[in-house]
Amino acid sequence: MSLKIEEILKETGCIRRGHFEWRTSRHSGYYCDFRLLSQMPDAMRDVCKYLSNKMSFEIENPKIEVVVGSKDGSLVPVYEMAQHLGVESKFLKEIDNKMFCEDKSTIEGKNVLVVDDAVYTGTTIKKIIAGVEKAGGNVIGVAVIVNRSKGILDFSGIKFVSGISFNYPMYEKDRCPLCKDKQAIEVL
Ligand SMILES: [Zn+2]
Repeated sequence: MSLKIEEILKETGCIRRGHFEWRTSRHSGYYCDFRLLSQMPDAMRDVCKYLSNKMSFEIENPKIEVVVGSKDGSLVPVYEMAQHLGVESKFLKEIDNKMFCEDKSTIEGKNVLVVDDAVYTGTTIKKIIAGVEKAGGNVIGVAVIVNRSKGILDFSGIKFVSGISFNYPMYEKDRCPLCKDKQAIEVL
């Protein structure tokens, strides 16, 4: 199942190899281009189908009632995951570094699956979980397409599922081997 997701990401060119500068100023030799994946409905649908199957296998009970993500982030995967699970999708808005639900009634008392395209440190997902809990929702699972963490994620015991684990190295500018090689850089 995970292998299939990896194949799709590679075949569609969403996993890119090169020399990239991130918004954090750090560099890497890989990049997962989710904007590209979002522009390919069939590929995104397949990836989310595999991910939702994997999630359903992990969580049989209680039943997921709503899929929630960030308004500024993963609109398409959240929508697609909800579609596959046959439930509604909702989006939280980030204000002053916190996630808010504009209509609590859509989440209150519901079993929630949090979805994001990728996870690295887990900060965004933790903010979404806090926003859902503040709105009275019960987060029972977290699903991401790509897990870029080093296996140190902890969402307070909440079930976590990823499509693939892909932990590529990140470098500080002054220690980047690709810079030393003078490889052309793409600013993300
Ligand atoms: Zn570099």
